[in-house]
Amino acid sequence: MKLPIIGFALAMVLGVVLRGAEQNSTATLVLVGGTIYTANPAQPKAEALAIAGDRILRVGTRQEIEALRGSSTRVVDLAGATVVPGLEDAHGHVASLGIGLSQVDLTDTPDIAHIASLVAARAAQTSAGRWIEGFGWDQNRWPVKTWPTAADLDAVSDNHPVALQRVDGHAVWVNSRAMRLAGITKTTPDPPGGRLIRDASGAPTGVLVDGAQSLVERVTPTPTPEELDASILAADRELSRVGLTMVHDAGATSTTIAAYQRLVAARRLNTRLYVMISNSPDTTREWFARGPLVDPSQRLNVRAVKMFADGALGSRGAALLADYSDEPGNRGLLVTPPEALEGTTKAAAQAGFQPCTHAIGDRANREMLDIYARVEGEVPGMRALRPRIEHAQILASSDVPRFAALGVIASMQPTHCTSDMPWAPARLGASRAADEAYVWQKLLKSGARLAAGSDFPVERPDPLPGFYAAITRQDKAGQPPDGWAPDQRLTRDEALAAFTIGAAYAAHAERDLGSLEAGKLADFVVLSRDIMTAPPAEILTTTVLDTVVGGVRVYGASNSPLGTSR
Ligand SMILES: [Zn+2]
Repeated sequence: MKLPIIGFALAMVLGVVLRGAEQNSTATLVLVGGTIYTANPAQPKAEALAIAGDRILRVGTRQEIEALRGSSTRVVDLAGATVVPGLEDAHGHVASLGIGLSQVDLTDTPDIAHIASLVAARAAQTSAGRWIEGFGWDQNRWPVKTWPTAADLDAVSDNHPVALQRVDGHAVWVNSRAMRLAGITKTTPDPPGGRLIRDASGAPTGVLVDGAQSLVERVTPTPTPEELDASILAADRELSRVGLTMVHDAGATSTTIAAYQRLVAARRLNTRLYVMISNSPDTTREWFARGPLVDPSQRLNVRAVKMFADGALGSRGAALLADYSDEPGNRGLLVTPPEALEGTTKAAAQAGFQPCTHAIGDRANREMLDIYARVEGEVPGMRALRPRIEHAQILASSDVPRFAALGVIASMQPTHCTSDMPWAPARLGASRAADEAYVWQKLLKSGARLAAGSDFPVERPDPLPGFYAAITRQDKAGQPPDGWAPDQRLTRDEALAAFTIGAAYAAHAERDLGSLEAGKLADFVVLSRDIMTAPPAEILTTTVLDTVVGGVRVYGASNSPLGTSR
């Protein structure tokens, strides 16, 4: 009588075991028929990929992977497409990208009349009295290269205040209604560090330069929580579209972080975020007291702080050890006193936050390496936080080996190099430009770790032009012929690593992200061409076919392999 029961129990046990085994070894999704690059040096290339749920089950030959098929496994034929790990941007500004997407885009506009027509079109869709904001104009591209005026906008925007930021963010062009709201009149003095463009009578004409922009910023509306959420979601869609699965947000306030938390809790955000908190007193006080937010699912980590050591090279604000070659007597500026940077670094390290500091000039970089070295001597665990320097553009040769020696990550933007190369030699002089600028290979050869990004929206967020810039150091027309300082170009493997596993390491996430390996999260991108072998120019016309985050497709082009099932 007992035997059947034992048999039944045995069958139950076996069933559970078998179902468990089935779950562990059966793929939900299998990719075959393409070329798969893993960013894993132990197995850099593979024929096929198996995914179970949100994790990678196996990377291997077609035969090995097809053995993992079950009755409900979806099999996708890549039809010759290329798969790379989910691309990661180690330095971008997500909310700014989103806010920019809702503004009038004036990039590359050829003249004032064209801009006026774009503003008129936006005014027609905007209720009266609401602000119209835009960005990206550059009078150097126009037939007449003088400053525009409020009058140029008044005719098309009588009912709306208008504020249009110049391409470099250093000037804003407003209409008369905006000037009235800002209280700008003939008697308004130039604020410190700023200037109002005026006519012969001294009346402001509608362009506010540098610090004078604050006169208008005071009266433009701050986004409501709903508007902020909508901006972040717009940025999220754009990031998925260009093939990014994770972004390091380089400086978010408590307000923005609260929006990220809302959206992640509601499962509305597809891009994984690694957040550096802004170094503003309110934000650091709050977050250093509560401690880092560490998310094992890698959706939203808040465990870094963003500081600023100096300005930028273009505006001669980067802090240099010697004079600017095109402005003797000027060595740029440290925008935060070194004592304050050291204080914040120490407080961050004690609270368990990774210090990340914007440093562009060789002096700013040296100051930060000195500060990181001192804090490492004072706070146990500082090194384990993986301190970072953001940009690290100009480095004295003697400072290069200190990155590896101190365990400091160089977080660099390949497209900054190619955007800056037309004028950087003028700022730095030929020898400094050749020896010290964007020295990716020198850093790698010294043993330093690189993480790549774009600094969007300063540059486009698309990682493929970043990959192209990293391997060519050429502009999009292929100039200069061998690339600028070609000995500093990255190989394709190095560039792919910087945009994947290097960025994951910089976010303490290399166990889960950054390469295609069994057990890691299933983040990957399907590309129309093989960027590891294609002629460089073809990388610029390569398109993202699918973006997958945690096994879920978050973007698909109309001709995507994952969109068509078999
Ligand atoms: Zn930035």
